Amino acid sequence: MKDLLGGKGANLAEMANLGIPVPPGFTITTEMCTEYYKHHAWPEGLEEDVRTNLKRLEDAMGMKFGDPANPLLVSVRSGARASMPGMMDTILNLGLNDEVAEGLIRKTQNPRFVWDSYRRFVQMYSDVVLDVARSKFEALIDARKEQKRVRLDTELTADDWRDLVGQFKELVQRELGRPFPLDPWEQLVGAINAVFRSWNNPRAITYRKLNDIPDWWGTAVNVQAMVFGNMGETSGTGVAFTRDARTGEKRFFGEYLMNAQGEDVVAGIRTPNPVSQLEQTNPEAYRQLTEIYQKLERHYKDMMDIEFTIQEGKLYMLQCRVGKRTAMAAVKMAVDMVKEGLIDKKTAVLRVTPKQIDELLHPIIDPQVKVKPIAKGLPASPGAAVGKIVFHASDAERWVAKGEKKVILVRTETSPEDVGGMHVAQGILTARGGMTSHAAVVARGMGKCCVAGCEAIRVNEEERYFTVGDVTVREGDWLTLNGTTGEVILGEVPLVEPALSGDFATILDWAEEFRPAHPRVRANADTPVDARVAREFGAEGIGLCRTEHMFFAEDRIRAVREMILADNAEERKKPLARIMPMQKGDFKEIFREMKDLPVTIRLLDPPLHEFLPHEEDQQRALAQEMGKSYEEVRQKVRALQELNPMLGHRGCRLGITFPEIYDMQVQAIFEAACELAKEGLSVFPEVMIPLVGTVEELRILKENAVRVAEEVMRRYGVRVHYSVGTMIEVPRASLVADKIAQQAEFFSFGTNDLTQMTFGYSRDDAGKFLPVYIEQGILEKDPFQSIDQEGVGQLVQMGVERGRSTNPGLKCGVCGEHGGDPASIFFFHRVGLDYVSCSPYRVPVARMATAHAELKAKKA
Ligand code: PEP
Ligand code: MG
Repeated sequence: MKDLLGGKGANLAEMANLGIPVPPGFTITTEMCTEYYKHHAWPEGLEEDVRTNLKRLEDAMGMKFGDPANPLLVSVRSGARASMPGMMDTILNLGLNDEVAEGLIRKTQNPRFVWDSYRRFVQMYSDVVLDVARSKFEALIDARKEQKRVRLDTELTADDWRDLVGQFKELVQRELGRPFPLDPWEQLVGAINAVFRSWNNPRAITYRKLNDIPDWWGTAVNVQAMVFGNMGETSGTGVAFTRDARTGEKRFFGEYLMNAQGEDVVAGIRTPNPVSQLEQTNPEAYRQLTEIYQKLERHYKDMMDIEFTIQEGKLYMLQCRVGKRTAMAAVKMAVDMVKEGLIDKKTAVLRVTPKQIDELLHPIIDPQVKVKPIAKGLPASPGAAVGKIVFHASDAERWVAKGEKKVILVRTETSPEDVGGMHVAQGILTARGGMTSHAAVVARGMGKCCVAGCEAIRVNEEERYFTVGDVTVREGDWLTLNGTTGEVILGEVPLVEPALSGDFATILDWAEEFRPAHPRVRANADTPVDARVAREFGAEGIGLCRTEHMFFAEDRIRAVREMILADNAEERKKPLARIMPMQKGDFKEIFREMKDLPVTIRLLDPPLHEFLPHEEDQQRALAQEMGKSYEEVRQKVRALQELNPMLGHRGCRLGITFPEIYDMQVQAIFEAACELAKEGLSVFPEVMIPLVGTVEELRILKENAVRVAEEVMRRYGVRVHYSVGTMIEVPRASLVADKIAQQAEFFSFGTNDLTQMTFGYSRDDAGKFLPVYIEQGILEKDPFQSIDQEGVGQLVQMGVERGRSTNPGLKCGVCGEHGGDPASIFFFHRVGLDYVSCSPYRVPVARMATAHAELKAKKA
């Protein structure tokens, strides 16, 4: 009954049902909270219900709320449907005032315990309900400790706490101009209202946003009799996990403190003891605890996170919930629990999130080490990396060649010329660019850690340093990157390498059994090496081979530049003829790696000026190499320059204006395919035309492609099975998809460009404002990271529907970066895409995500 009672309330009730000792109490439902928000007051009947249940609670405890002779104290805690650790408020020891305190001292003969509890109550209540800052109370405690020359709270005496309670109340009077409420009923009403209100405090709102928790859920309120861990040396409190939350090992694991209340264990003021020690100091409590945790695990069939209190030797459970765990632990526990017969395979698969699969594939920062980041950028490519800083790709290559094992490449942004340096670097940090910037896309393709768009750093590449605020970091300094969080850390932090255990393979195998017929999972791979990695990770084809990456190789860039600098089609032919066999060689190797599987090859996409050097000395060198004047080269580069390259002369617009470039590529693809077909290999080339916005563009380019393909096959005397299709990445293409589909055999949604053009956000410049947009809640997520289902998603869905309306067999996939994002994959599963395509290292993540999408859709 989590929806109604909240997680905490439901689990307390469940434990009570199981006969586990839980302090009596009652839960005000989440519905009351939503009503409270509607009417800004308690709904009809709530006051009466609270009074009635308080009375029942008094009877159960044989105590009375506010009665000095035998006082009942309560805790008031929040508890939403989903656990929101630390986001909302809790008040302990409620019901105390001066008379009750005196009465409690008489009853317990323990003044220190009573005054300590009282001061905690005033402090918490003032903070949560009355909005008087906690730090002001801490300052008074610190002053007292200083005066007494002691260091720990536990060294203060009953008299100290009594004096402090007086000072606290004076503080409240001073701050608010009215006294601290001493009437227990008034305290209770105030606390319940504060818990309702805490649902909408800024940190709870942010947490909900980050975790997709709806605002309308509301929180329940748990009112529970207090039990005390601070009654002396036979009392205590602790938290524990039924299995090791870090490794997944089957061993009871946790910490406790004697003579303490719950907050002390987590606050880190005193060092808690390992729970195993309780076995020696308090064997009876330990025996009960063991019995209870085993019972809970059997009942919930999962690893549980529990909180307990021992009051004068007697054990109480205060909370239990499904425990949070590391990725490694999630995998081990899921597999172990199937072996133990506790859960079935389907449940095990659902227990490991795609994000956890991702974490397991990369090195991470040693979780034992506390780090202090100096800046934060976008988590562009997951994993962690450590190395010495270099500022130029060529330096990276040189340093590594002369034996430096680990370098981190730091750039304002990267460009295709930097690929070699990126390849040898451990990780990449850029100051500019978004989740689909060059650095991000290439790093993900390489499975390499990357933090992009870290706007807080100012990079001076010439003088080889960067600054963050007033810190200057130089070439050769050690740097650590966390590509999973976007954190940048100075120095050499220890990493933990991924250990792909047998359990990891087992869980992926099980996931395989539940994967849907579609979407299948393909990879974005540009080189034979990428293709091999992709296949090893289980890719079922290549969904995007970006051919421009082949143009940058050292042995070809010269021919490419010659082709670009040529004045007419005739002059272009010669260098194109030199490039053709090189491309063909690449295609052959890729087809060979991917034999029996489809390979989608995209014809040239980027604007030509990307292949030309932009600095004067490089242009002079090029002029000399080409036998042209510097002036001529400079003019040409200038003529190709564009104000908006992303919206400029690229994609199919290149193919229309320079048909000989695409013709050369198609020839290379089919010569490669025919030669392999002759060897008896089955190859399935899919020729893909980028950036189409009108059906005419596709009609013309398809006609050209088919002509060249047929010509080559005739010449070789073999037929290969092939298709010609288009990317859908210009919004107009989605709108007229019914027409385009009549010329296309497949659609591949290029959601990077589609997002860029739908929002009108430049892919490379959005880093300047997107973080602010997300912080202010204008956008929930970076739309380049996870697809904007509401807007861009409509264009995808519309494209699929309109396309299939005129071409029912139309194969539809996605090859933008969203193809590897689990939330986006859920969406693509829902709109019926045939495949998703992502970087090789995300293939296992995507496989898991499709299995989850299918299992969850079936459940729903
Ligand atoms: C896209 O736009 O989504 C795409 C895959 O192409 P690129 O990222 O190369 O522009
Ligand atoms: Mg694109």
